[in-house]
Amino acid sequence: MSPTDALVPVTIDGVQISVEPGTLIVRAAEQAGIAIPRFCDHPQLKPVGACRQCLVDVSSPGPDGKQRAFPKPQAACTMPVVPGMVVQTAATSPNAAAAQTAVMELLLTNHPLDCPTCDKAGECPLQNQAMAVGRDASRYTCAKRTYPKPIALTAEILLDRERCILCQRCTRFADQIAADPFIALQSRGARQQVGRFDPAAWLGRPDGAAGRVSEDAVTAELAPIVDTQHAPAVPGSNSLATAELPPISDQADTAEPPGMALALDGRPFASYFSGNLIQLCPVGALTSASYRFQARPFDLVSTESVAEHDSSACDVRIDVRRGQVRRRLAAGGPDGPSREWLTDKDRFAFAWQSLPERLTSPLVRHNGELRPASWPEAIAAAAAGLTSANSTGVLPGGRLTFEDALAYSVFARAVLATSDVDFRARPHSAEEAAFLNRFVAGTGTGVTLDDLAAASHVILVGFEPEEEGGIVYLRLREAAKAGARIEAIAPYASPGIRRLGAHLIQVLPGTEAAALTKLLDDAAPLPGTLILLGERLALAPGALAAAAHQQGGRLAWIPRRVGERAGVEAGLLPGPLPPHLASALTSAFGDALSGAPSGAAAQDPTTPDPATSDPTGRDTSAMLAAAAAGQLDALVVGGVEVDDLPDPTLARTALDRAFTVSLEILPSQATALADVVLPVAPPAEKSGTYITWEGRPKPFGRVLTSTAMPDSKVLQAIATAMDRPIDLTPATASTVLEAIQSADAAASPTASAPLDIPDLAERGNTEQVQPVAGQALLATWHLNLDAGRLQAGDPHLAGTAKAPFAVLSRATAFEVDVRDGERLTVSTEAGAITVPVRIGEIPDRVVWLPTNSSGCQVRATLGVSGGIVQIEPTPTDRREVVA
Ligand code: SF4
Ligand code: SF4
Repeated sequence: MSPTDALVPVTIDGVQISVEPGTLIVRAAEQAGIAIPRFCDHPQLKPVGACRQCLVDVSSPGPDGKQRAFPKPQAACTMPVVPGMVVQTAATSPNAAAAQTAVMELLLTNHPLDCPTCDKAGECPLQNQAMAVGRDASRYTCAKRTYPKPIALTAEILLDRERCILCQRCTRFADQIAADPFIALQSRGARQQVGRFDPAAWLGRPDGAAGRVSEDAVTAELAPIVDTQHAPAVPGSNSLATAELPPISDQADTAEPPGMALALDGRPFASYFSGNLIQLCPVGALTSASYRFQARPFDLVSTESVAEHDSSACDVRIDVRRGQVRRRLAAGGPDGPSREWLTDKDRFAFAWQSLPERLTSPLVRHNGELRPASWPEAIAAAAAGLTSANSTGVLPGGRLTFEDALAYSVFARAVLATSDVDFRARPHSAEEAAFLNRFVAGTGTGVTLDDLAAASHVILVGFEPEEEGGIVYLRLREAAKAGARIEAIAPYASPGIRRLGAHLIQVLPGTEAAALTKLLDDAAPLPGTLILLGERLALAPGALAAAAHQQGGRLAWIPRRVGERAGVEAGLLPGPLPPHLASALTSAFGDALSGAPSGAAAQDPTTPDPATSDPTGRDTSAMLAAAAAGQLDALVVGGVEVDDLPDPTLARTALDRAFTVSLEILPSQATALADVVLPVAPPAEKSGTYITWEGRPKPFGRVLTSTAMPDSKVLQAIATAMDRPIDLTPATASTVLEAIQSADAAASPTASAPLDIPDLAERGNTEQVQPVAGQALLATWHLNLDAGRLQAGDPHLAGTAKAPFAVLSRATAFEVDVRDGERLTVSTEAGAITVPVRIGEIPDRVVWLPTNSSGCQVRATLGVSGGIVQIEPTPTDRREVVA
């Protein structure tokens, strides 16, 4: 049978075409280049036939072989083709044309005459279609249905109900794609409308008052899917439930209990992906609070770019009016890596780049006070301080373009002659550095977002896809819906893990290595198995080593920040460059490196001068400790938030004591303590290349005209002022990346060779200190929307962030005498955090907190990233709750 035998022949408006069996008429028409108007149809959503705008005349062969016409026009978006089908669109069938015109008239019956003030006008399919097939004048003479407008679905999304044409794109996205069904069609007939789920309604609370959700509901929300077969024995853990969520299927999309729509505090979810509803809405019914009345489509200058918020670096379109970014839309097309979806953070969090307090001129410290300075003065001050320093550490941060990462790497190794360099402005470990140098640097594109969607078996280790991966979660949802088995090694099943239908392998925080080892020992991963490793594994000794030693599966390291993969590729980890990176960078920067002055500054990048630098290279923590102790003279700091560091107090001491040069966009704790502050360009004001966690380069151009310089140019100016005129900006980043990746093929050891990290695999089995009553092990990770600096400036987005809360097991809550909904105080010697507590299926004497939410900043307040903390109820709050 030839491939064409399996195709289905159809005729559309006289054009004969053969398409795959099951193809919908609208898709077949697209392939034939024939337009059929529609509003509800979307290639990534299940067909629903809601708007009826795509009516066409259809005939197909009957059992006797004779062609038989359907008695009425049919919806082309729901009907699959059959062999011999003949379709006539409005272009060739007066009947279909009349049907489409009639539907348009119905859609406009109650539609307001809002076009002059509607945000959608100018890019509105309804407006365009009404112009094409609508009547010149309305025959409807009654009063139109009206509603108060707009109503807020979330702090960011506004709904003008009378503009809604009930296409259900928004509700289907929430159900099928994001699995956050926080909205639904409500009422019937002319009053049918999109509305928000009311938790009080399904909880049977007629008053509808906001407040605590019942403990049963929260318990149902948190009930994990525990894989007891692979879960290692957890000392002191509670008895694990064995209930399993049924695999996500087409039916399960709509059959999920309404409890899945609730956040832990009882609010309807303000989904992390809700901005997609606005872009999906074919009319102006859904608008964003931040863009409403800001611009007209014809006023906007649009530029394709890349989002700066997470390591997937999703494609965006940035719309600018009068030199100001007004909105960002998903781009890249439905077949692109992000499937033309965006997280709300990528979509809405752009105001931070133009905040009034942004640094615009250099600052130099005189007599203990930072004062504005000219660029020559500031560059000279930075160069003088760095030249006179005997030892310097470089902390470039994790938001780097590849170009800036290369500049920091060469600046550190060739200009400053130091291997004290580390991009990791977060908890980190030597094991992690070794793993990254060996299994990530120079390995090119590995596991991709498309691979995630097509996977049959995924193991998540120390990684929360929804909170820490953004679009990774949506692609994993595709795999889950197709029946993939997803296993999560984590302390508890977060709502995102539950919506993936994942099997939880419950562990104490920091003991992921033992669980992963046991899982891999019990059943060797098949070649199709994907093992996704989060940056939190730096706090789980042995976990990365265990992953490295596995055979069969494919590894992917997925950090949170957009620039971390670029930091790995550019050699921004402490110590000498790994051989395959050294050869590539030496060939890419050969002239520059050979042009470096002799002596200590002219070191080969693989062998830093032991007289001026620790030859093994100090990592972030070691550098800060050395600087705080007066053993490191100077620091060059990029985009580093002090409160993200493992020990913020130590970091402040270090920045204060060392001569610090800070390259920053916004004022920060680092700039406040620096000796020289050099403002650099935000992403919209420079061009560059982000490298995704997949290893995929994502180049982007400058969106706004600006005189602001990228980090690489500022470093270049300092190098020149230090009389070390090295070219830190190679011709193209892609050339260097190609050199790194081709060098890897020739020089990198194979991934199957043993990882040269002695004893690390065993460290994961080290006995942990056991908490006693009143204590708990701290588990923590970042929420997708939190108190991060790059989310500043958009109060609407901030309004959709989850309120912070703690999670305790029922037994632990009983032990410390705190009830669900009451406030819990978590403390160390450094400070205390007080948040509401929720009861969940988490191991006993483990407490989970969001890492950096408003009112719950773990590292800044508690000064730790894990380990044992004190837990106790907050007595005054008990009285408030009882009252
Ligand atoms: Fe006009 Fe479209 Fe807005 Fe309706 S949704 S008022 S047709 S621009
Ligand atoms: Fe469709 Fe927009 Fe109405 Fe949702 S709000 S049903 S996307 S028209």
